[in-house]
Amino acid sequence: MSTDALDLVILGGGCAGLSLAYRLAQHQGAPRTLIIDPRGDYTNDRTWCGWPVTAHPFQDDVRARWHDLTLHTREASTTVKSRRYPYEMLEAERFYSRTLAAVEAHPSIARMQDHAVDVEDREDGVTVTLESGETIQARFGVDTRPHPKPLASPWLWQDFAGINVQADNIPQHAELMDFRVSDDPQAGIDFLYVLPYAPDQALFEWTRFGRPPTSPITLQGKLENYLETRFGTGGWQALRRETGTLPMAPPTRANGLSVVVTGAYGGAMRAATGYAFHAIQRWADECADALLKGQPPAGARPGRILPHLDRIFMSTLARHPERAPEFYRILFENASTDRLIRFLSGVPSVRDTLSVMNALPWAPLIASTLRQALPERT
Ligand SMILES: Cc1cc2nc3c(=O)[nH]c(=O)nc-3n(C[C@H](O)[C@H](O)[C@H](O)COP(=O)(O)OP(=O)(O)OC[C@H]3O[C@@H](n4cnc5c(N)ncnc54)[C@H](O)[C@@H]3O)c2cc1C
Repeated sequence: MSTDALDLVILGGGCAGLSLAYRLAQHQGAPRTLIIDPRGDYTNDRTWCGWPVTAHPFQDDVRARWHDLTLHTREASTTVKSRRYPYEMLEAERFYSRTLAAVEAHPSIARMQDHAVDVEDREDGVTVTLESGETIQARFGVDTRPHPKPLASPWLWQDFAGINVQADNIPQHAELMDFRVSDDPQAGIDFLYVLPYAPDQALFEWTRFGRPPTSPITLQGKLENYLETRFGTGGWQALRRETGTLPMAPPTRANGLSVVVTGAYGGAMRAATGYAFHAIQRWADECADALLKGQPPAGARPGRILPHLDRIFMSTLARHPERAPEFYRILFENASTDRLIRFLSGVPSVRDTLSVMNALPWAPLIASTLRQALPERT
């Protein structure tokens, strides 16, 4: 495909870029689109989990689903059940192969392997300068590139290290948060996440919410020590590893004139949870619909109330990391499960939000935020 007179340039062909391209590729009359990404090959680099509160086109790629999820603190264990919204897990390699095949087969959608280094955003279009020196012109742009920046207070980093483990005695229950592994709350809020997807295999992930970010290598060491203790030396095998660092924060860039920002760094990730996959799918539906109608692309919409609630919650976690297990336990015990799932997934109704707010001790949370917002008294 020639890159003259492009309708759309997508910067970044990861989850968000390929989710949008996949929708467009289902239509003969798709806009003339170029995806720019430096990646040469697509590997099984991540596992996406979350609740499919709204339908998405990758249902056949789901590796496993769980209706029951357990949360452990040192004081108690709570299991929540949802028949309506099973927690699901997709491996990136299946998503990549499905989306890349659809893109390859479409005459109006192409990929280019390069870094976008500069974006000129005008009312009448966008010019992207690539590392190779080439420039690309398009009517609209969708920018999904990561934009790592230092985080302002009260936001935190989410760092994690995961290992797909093969062993005998794999637990058969999904554990969303196991805070019993935490040994130093001041270093960060640590918990273990365990998703068994075969009788002898599970994804184990050590996660930390904290600031500054922790090297995932440190967390990988903690996870390996845990696995050694749990299964014994030689009693487990690592089948695959993944690491990540996500900003639990609002987007650092806003939509422009002809370019919208989206993806994990562009408002599609729920700041208080780090969940992005299903929100990206909802955004991709909306954005593709607009483009197919000849309208400008839609940017991610984090909502109006949720970012404020996230700020209050994160502020409290940042000030009282030792109370995190208690807050999550109260939430799991007191909120109605389906309402909580919609809330965590970023699509709550007003009643869902009120129900979740009702479940938490908001008075200390709000007091904590006010203390942070008010000038210190001397
Ligand atoms: C290991 C891991 C596990 C995760 N697990 C979950 C989960 O269970 N559930 C969940 O909801 N979310 C999860 N996330 C968070 C989120 O869903 C993913 O990060 C998701 O991939 C975000 O999509 P994205 O398109 O914003 O970013 P990416 O998928 O990372 O895509 C961004 C793309 O931009 C490209 N790029 C970078 N620089 C440039 C440049 N200069 N020019 C052009 N392209 C560029 C990159 O090569 C990349 O392909 C996880 C993240 C990681 C890293």
